[in-house]
Amino acid sequence: MSRFLSGSLEGLRPYEAGEQPRDGEYIKLNTNESPYPPAPGVEQAVLAQAARLNLYPDPSQERLRRAAGELYGLDGSYVSVGNGSDENLALIFRTLCTDRPLAGPDVSYGMYPRLCKLFGIEHVVLPLREDFTINLDDYSGISANVCLANPNAQTGLYVPAEQIEAFVSANSGRLVIVDEAYIDFGGTSCAPLVKKYDNLIVVQTMSKSRSLAGARVGFTFACPELIAEVEAVRHSFNPYNVNGMSMAAALISLGRQDYFYQCTKKIVATRGHMTAGMQALGMQVLPSLANFVLAKSEKTGGRELYAELKRRGILVRHFSEERIDGFIRVTVGTQEQTDALLCTLADILKE
Ligand SMILES: *Cc1c(COP(=O)(O)O)cnc(C)c1O
Repeated sequence: MSRFLSGSLEGLRPYEAGEQPRDGEYIKLNTNESPYPPAPGVEQAVLAQAARLNLYPDPSQERLRRAAGELYGLDGSYVSVGNGSDENLALIFRTLCTDRPLAGPDVSYGMYPRLCKLFGIEHVVLPLREDFTINLDDYSGISANVCLANPNAQTGLYVPAEQIEAFVSANSGRLVIVDEAYIDFGGTSCAPLVKKYDNLIVVQTMSKSRSLAGARVGFTFACPELIAEVEAVRHSFNPYNVNGMSMAAALISLGRQDYFYQCTKKIVATRGHMTAGMQALGMQVLPSLANFVLAKSEKTGGRELYAELKRRGILVRHFSEERIDGFIRVTVGTQEQTDALLCTLADILKE
């Protein structure tokens, strides 16, 4: 540790992103990217923008805010655009969450505790129930703000939008942040509810369901007052946070709802096939509404299964947190990738 490191950062353990291997060909099912390419037209739009890289992008992000809002019947004043959800979460935490603790489940997205540490926010950890579900009653008796991923990261389990609405409505004194990175794979979004509730923030990303992980574009949906505050911080930090090529890619992509539905529909179908195939091999699979499943076999540990799959050319994710260290998390890829995975699993698990 240098003698210059900020005192509050002592002991910060950075988020460990999934491997992005450069050392060979893997079937890559470890970081919940889409197996399908960006929407038709994205590549040309990015190339056209590349010719204008001498200019700054539009810091108001007006067109993209309007296009994202339209998905949920909101105008642009309900939307802020970030360099991925990760940046949006940072802006929200910094702008709106530093004055009281923030509560969330023990098994969830690893960025939440890191961002809390960065911004000096106390992170209150509430365990998921035995079956890995989130029960919002657990969040009732406290005064902390709440940040949930829905469907939840690592488990794929989903809390119905009506339950979230009831909670938001009954807790108007505190902020509820719903991270909907995986909402397009079967859940119902809470985004339209930001018109009705000024204590609700919904975060979405183009990284998973819209095949744009490399572009880094995410959206914050909230009432105009909260958005204006987040925007003031964004403009004080990095007004050009979304580059011109990514903005162009995002705009084209949002215009191709047909392609988006086609891709998410395939992923949902393949998720069913993958779940059934794993169950047929005797594995336990949590019921997922995301583009991944959390699964385990009694025959081998999670880390061992991850390593054995990697040895055979298939990359999945293993988390060493105690409650889920027996599991592997597997991204839903193409049908062909899933068939290859199931064959390899069958081979590994046959005594
Ligand atoms: C992937 C993911 C993010 C990050 O999304 P980016 O837009 O790629 O930064 C945020 N939250 C959850 C729950 C995620 O799974």
